Amino acid sequence: MHKNLIAGQWYTGSGVRGNVNPSDLDDTVGLYAQASRDDTLVAIAAAQQAQPRWAACTPQQRADALDFIGSELLARREELGHLLSREEGKVRSEGIAEVTRAGQIFKYFAGEALRIRGEHLASTRPGIEVDIRRQPVGVVGIITPWNFPMAIPAWKIAPALAYGNSVLFKPADLVPGSAWALGEIISRAGLPDGTFNLLMGRGSVVGQALLENPLVNAISFTGSVDTGRLLMQTAGARFAKLQLEMGGKNPLLVMADADLDQAVQCAIQGAYYSTGQRCTASSRLIVEKAIYPAFTAALVEHLNHLRIGHALHADSQIGPVAEAAQLEQNLEYVATGRQEGARLIFGGERLQRDTAGHFMSPALFVDASAEMRIAREEIFGPVACVIPADNYEHALALANDSPFGLSAGICTTSLKHASHFKQHMQSGMVMVNTPTAGVDYHVPFGGCKGSSHGPREQGSYAAEFFTTVKTAYTQA
Ligand code: ADP
Repeated sequence: MHKNLIAGQWYTGSGVRGNVNPSDLDDTVGLYAQASRDDTLVAIAAAQQAQPRWAACTPQQRADALDFIGSELLARREELGHLLSREEGKVRSEGIAEVTRAGQIFKYFAGEALRIRGEHLASTRPGIEVDIRRQPVGVVGIITPWNFPMAIPAWKIAPALAYGNSVLFKPADLVPGSAWALGEIISRAGLPDGTFNLLMGRGSVVGQALLENPLVNAISFTGSVDTGRLLMQTAGARFAKLQLEMGGKNPLLVMADADLDQAVQCAIQGAYYSTGQRCTASSRLIVEKAIYPAFTAALVEHLNHLRIGHALHADSQIGPVAEAAQLEQNLEYVATGRQEGARLIFGGERLQRDTAGHFMSPALFVDASAEMRIAREEIFGPVACVIPADNYEHALALANDSPFGLSAGICTTSLKHASHFKQHMQSGMVMVNTPTAGVDYHVPFGGCKGSSHGPREQGSYAAEFFTTVKTAYTQA
């Protein structure tokens, strides 16, 4: 059994959970300990004790530790990518790419550990100097979802450690294998015991204990809006620093002047790859009427050729849905879309393959409208809807008519529309002629409106969340 890491020791926990391969339900990937509330309290105390020791290490020591983790992830990308795909269901190339990304993130933050910047200013008063320095926030809780079992933990854990914080990492229940593999590598990186703690277990047990405990100074979370709201109510009420990423309903605008092939590629990639299970997935395709028939016909043509299958089979382009409950929810949304009057022109059905898995054909609705639930609510599956627009201004208004604002894209050859869109689209990330999903790791990630709360993630902007600023006045 794979155990939890608490205060530098491996703990058995109060229960065991097996993770099942969504491509083949007869394949159990492994057995993983479930931390109890008491385990969590031990870990919190250990993290509190360890944090000053870790913060007192030199930047070089922190950089070396992060570099070690990054190097091992990169060296083992094939093996760990296979594990990731086996437990989460994204295809093997995506699994390997995700582990590679995680390795690159640790390497990037190894560098950032050496570049913790401050400022020095002259005071408004004579004889006084002012300096502004960044310090760790302290003990950080990290709560992650199942859709990027390596990359999301990496982009939270790496900056947390780089800036001298201790970490309590609670991965999603569904994907403990990738989390454990990452934790095991971190356990050998030379951190003081208790600096990094792995707490696999239930959100309502481990997660809840982190939200409530005043020793946990900050929580970085990615997951659903409902859990995000709970974090605000519980951890926010005790003034913990919060960083919440909660999903999206990302629009891709296709203008009449777009390169049709490029627009179709962006739509297929953005809406359906990774089985649509990305918070940056394009689930609203807002298409100018002049190109509507040609675009939808080309999209269906491409969908006909997409290969859905076992995540580890070489020719699969799209794997299964990650879990049974998610598949049920996707199919319910397909039924809802039909009831609402949108026209399903492709897919939306359970698929049988050689192995018993959660396979589903990508679903495409056309003639949808902005008020439909399928156009407003995050589905988190391979389900997209096409909404007709009269012109660019109408398309932009439709795109902005959403409670979310994470990522948004436009396919156009008009510089005027592209420039206007970058300025006026209400989202944290805007994409021109490139899919809404797929980002770099050295620049900020995050959204506005209901998608995100708190400072941005990734790149040098991660310092906003993982450090606190102190202003020092010195009489010379
Ligand atoms: P998803 O649909 O991506 O699983 P969730 O919000 O349900 O989104 O889960 C995201 C993460 O939040 C998971 O690690 C989950 O275990 C955790 N979580 C769920 N419920 C709670 C809770 N009550 N308190 C803290 N964390 C929770």
